[in-house]
Amino acid sequence: MRSHYCGTLSTERIDETVTLCGWVDRRRDHGGVIFLDLRDREGIVQVVFDPDTEEHFERADRVRSEYVLKVTGRVRARGEGTVNPNMATGEIEVLGKQLEILNQAATPPFQLDEHTAVGEDVRLHYRYMDLRRPEMQQRLVLRSKITNAVRNFLDGEGFLDIETPILTRATPEGARDYLVPSRTHAGQFFALPQSPQLFKQLLMVSGFDRYYQIAKCFRDEDLRADRQPEFTQIDIETSFLEEDEIMAITERMVRDLFQSVLDVDLGDFPHMPYSEAMERFGSDKPDLRIPLELVSIDDLMAQVEFKVFHGPAVDPDGRVAALRVPGGASISRKEIDDYTKYISIFGARGLAWIKVNDIDAGIEGLQSPILKFMPDDVVAQLMQRLDAANGDIIFFGADKTNVVNESLGHLRLKVGEDLGMVAEGWAPLWVVDFPMFEKAGDGNWTPLHHPFTAPSCSPEELESNPGEALSRAYDMVLNGTELGGGSIRIHARDMQESVFRILGIGEEEANEKFGFLLDALKYGAPPHGGLAFGLDRLVMLMTGAQSIRDVIAFPKTQSAACLMTDAPGAVDAKQLRELNIRLRETPAQASPAADSSAA
Ligand code: ASP
Repeated sequence: MRSHYCGTLSTERIDETVTLCGWVDRRRDHGGVIFLDLRDREGIVQVVFDPDTEEHFERADRVRSEYVLKVTGRVRARGEGTVNPNMATGEIEVLGKQLEILNQAATPPFQLDEHTAVGEDVRLHYRYMDLRRPEMQQRLVLRSKITNAVRNFLDGEGFLDIETPILTRATPEGARDYLVPSRTHAGQFFALPQSPQLFKQLLMVSGFDRYYQIAKCFRDEDLRADRQPEFTQIDIETSFLEEDEIMAITERMVRDLFQSVLDVDLGDFPHMPYSEAMERFGSDKPDLRIPLELVSIDDLMAQVEFKVFHGPAVDPDGRVAALRVPGGASISRKEIDDYTKYISIFGARGLAWIKVNDIDAGIEGLQSPILKFMPDDVVAQLMQRLDAANGDIIFFGADKTNVVNESLGHLRLKVGEDLGMVAEGWAPLWVVDFPMFEKAGDGNWTPLHHPFTAPSCSPEELESNPGEALSRAYDMVLNGTELGGGSIRIHARDMQESVFRILGIGEEEANEKFGFLLDALKYGAPPHGGLAFGLDRLVMLMTGAQSIRDVIAFPKTQSAACLMTDAPGAVDAKQLRELNIRLRETPAQASPAADSSAA
């Protein structure tokens, strides 16, 4: 139907006759001349109808917002003074000759350029309208460019795109499974994959060497900010490559991607051990754009009597750390109270601070409610260690190590943002040398990644000291966001059995759940490893979107519902009977549409 996209017209087409198809973005009547802004996925162009074209003019007069039109006309330069520099096509307009109304539209539920005036729930309910907004269109276009660039890169490196099942058994990635009842096996359930992890490992056992897939993954997690129950990974697995080689290829992939799509050179990514990331930034995904660091002061605080600091300083599981913020002395009491409240989310029971007014005046030049609890010489050593200067505020965390890291780590981000300390640009890095396990709340070991990650020690060393063992895992981090993570996998059956034992998965359970994997490891499994990138998050960063919902065409709300289709929904009794399911009680009357918690 069309000869050109609206948004692609420019002065190069002057005097050409073009046919456009699109939606009416705006209609204006200027004393006998009708202006239509016609929109398609490439942009907007102004079409002018004057009364000469009687029948078509009359039709143009009838059109309303979001009508679908086919327009034929001649491209001409805009007159002096009517050029619109804010519009990509602002130097030209189309003099309309013919207009066909392809479809009418009811009054839109919201003006597209006033989308912020309605809540996100309205936008999600009418998502097909929301997606007409140029901003949303551009994001999805960029998403397509990104997946295309990734496919081209991986294809060029000899990776094969192989699909893995969606109806499968549980793959543990630390979340709850989405279950699908089986009709043909009464009382039994499929699990939707939390990731293709086990299948991609089995593809390595089959000899496919280099695999990738742009894979949907499903995780039924508790409400957490900016997560989606179904999301997309760029999933990768390789055989016969060491971790450095896997990191090098995928780093090149991301570097090429930023170069080709955004014209940005990310440079070489530094590698940082997990222990250093936690020590300096309180996080395993440090945002290196913020020039603030945590400094351990346990040795100094072990000397003070002040219990709040002394206790954690001498506790092997405790930590006392300081965060020096240059220029932070201007932070008010009220703001400090707000920060204190903020870090209480992470378990911190308070936030001690010292303001440095005049460093040369010694104790007299400092201001703080805690100075009276500390000997002068300790304070002097503290100032020296932190390199304190006039105008600083120093915040303190003293608690169990994980509480200090989490709270000061988040405080670092928040204060950095509030004081405008986040540097422009991109700060990528690899975090490496993760511990294999951490202690869960119930005192049992849980894997930091997943149970198929290889340790960098022998099974005997692993079993004798699980808490000390490091894994061969690596995470790619960009601007404080984990873009992807992976590891070298266990390819020897005895090692896999050791890990299951440490995790408290007995032989019977291991065979029941992962028998197929343990079997496969018997039949010549090659050394292998890989990783997965979160595509949604990557696109979010690259488009500058604020939420991953803004880069997913049809996202779900935070309570995992689709406001447009009203899913999940009830099913009728017959369907349940076929599935051998009897509900325990009538489901609550509330339908997901009643849930407006889009954020
Ligand atoms: N399957 C892992 C995940 O989803 C990634 C990997 O280890 O390749 O996080």
